Amino acid sequence: MAMRRSGVRLSLLAGRAVGAALRPVESTALYSTSSDTRPVKDHDYLLGTLPETMKAAVLWEPKKPMTIEELKMPIPQVGEVLIRTKACGVCHSDLHVINQDLPYPIPCVLGHEITGEVVEHGKHTDSATIQRLPVGSRVVGSFIMPCGGCFFCVKGQEDLCESFFKYNRGMGGLYDGTTRLYRSPSGDPVYMYSMGGLAEYCVVPANGLAVIPETLPYSESAIIGCAVFTGYGAMKNAADMRAGETVAVIGTGGVGSSCVQVARAFGGRIVIGVDISDKKLEMAKQMGATHTINAAKEDVPERIREITGGRGVDIAVEALGKPATFNQAVMSVRDGGRAVMIGLAPSGVTSEVDITRLVRRQIKIVGSYGARARQDLPNIVGLAELGFLKIESAVTQKRKLEEADKVYSELDKGEITGRAVIELR
Ligand SMILES: [Zn+2]
Ligand SMILES: [Zn+2]
Repeated sequence: MAMRRSGVRLSLLAGRAVGAALRPVESTALYSTSSDTRPVKDHDYLLGTLPETMKAAVLWEPKKPMTIEELKMPIPQVGEVLIRTKACGVCHSDLHVINQDLPYPIPCVLGHEITGEVVEHGKHTDSATIQRLPVGSRVVGSFIMPCGGCFFCVKGQEDLCESFFKYNRGMGGLYDGTTRLYRSPSGDPVYMYSMGGLAEYCVVPANGLAVIPETLPYSESAIIGCAVFTGYGAMKNAADMRAGETVAVIGTGGVGSSCVQVARAFGGRIVIGVDISDKKLEMAKQMGATHTINAAKEDVPERIREITGGRGVDIAVEALGKPATFNQAVMSVRDGGRAVMIGLAPSGVTSEVDITRLVRRQIKIVGSYGARARQDLPNIVGLAELGFLKIESAVTQKRKLEEADKVYSELDKGEITGRAVIELR
C-alpha cells in the first residue's frame, strides 16, 4: 500500500523538480533542509509515503555469510537517483570483496549490476537529468558510476573516473565522501559497493543510468550493467574491434560469455570460447562462439593457431585474472594483435611476458575495466533491444534476496553456469 500512495507524492515531486517555480510551497515542505545525507527525522523526508526502512543483504565480515538487515530508506543527493531495485546480477567482483582479495570497507552491501524503477531525484538535480530519467522510468545501472566532472570524465574516459575509484572503490560511498546506507534504527553507516544493489532500494549517480524499453525484462537486463558492460568496453574501447576480426575469449563465465556475444554483435568472423568446463563452453556456443576449446584437454595457443590458419587471433580476451591464462592470451594473438585483460586478480598477483616477442611481434597488452557509461550504456541497451545481445539466454538462474548468500557461495564453487540474478520484487 505504501507504494501506491507514493505514486501521488512522486508525481508531485516530479512536477516540482521540472517546474520548480510553479510549486514553491510544496517544494519546501517535502524535504529536509539538512545537507547531511541522513534524515534529520525520518518524518521530514518520508511523509509516510515510502517505507521508512528497506531490506538489504549486508556483508559483516570477510568470508562470513551475508545477512538480511533493515536499513533506513536511502536519500539521493544532487545528481543522484533513488531506484526501487528490481533485479541485481550475481558477479565475481563481489566475491573478491567477500573473500577480501581486494580490500573494501565493511559492513557493506554488495551488488553492482541492477535494474529498477526511478523513484526520486536528489534535491537540486538539474532538469535535463530529471527529463532524461523521469520518475517511474525503467533503468539499468552500470557498475562504474561516473562523476562526470573529474579529469578523466571530462576527457570522456569515464571508465577511469577518479571520483568513482577514490570514493566508491576506495571508501565505499558516493562522491560527497559519504555512504547513502545506514542501519535502522541505530544509524550506523553501511558501505556500498557501487550502488549496493542487493537491497530493495539503491541510490545511483544519474551518469551511471540508462533507460531501458518495455521490451527488455528487468531481470535479464540487470546483466547489462556489469557483465555486458565489461564485455562491450573490452571490445569497443580496449580492443577497438572491427568487423571481420577474429577473437578468442579465455574464461567463458558471465563476463566472458558476454564478450563472446559482443564480439559476434561487432561482426566477429571467428569467435573462440576457451574454458575448462564443457558446460560453460556449451553456453559460449549458445552465445555465438563459432569454436570452443577445452583448455584442460588441449593446448590453447596451439589450437587457436590451427583455427586461424596458423596466425593467431586478432584479439584475445582474458576474463579470469590468472597468470597462466594471462600468458595464454598473450601467446594466442597474431603478430600485431591485441591481448585485452579484463579478469581481476588478488592484489599483488603478477604475470611474466616474453619481452622479445612483445617487442618484435608488436603485441599490445591492454587492460580494460568496465566501459564508459554515458556513451556506452545506451548503445548496449540498443543492441539488446535489437536482439544482437541475447541477454535472456545469458541469465540462467533467478533467485530471491534471502538466497543471496547461498548464490554467492555457489558462484565461488564454480557451480553457476551463465549468470544468476537476484530478483527483488
Ligand atoms: Zn561485476
Ligand atoms: Zn569522474
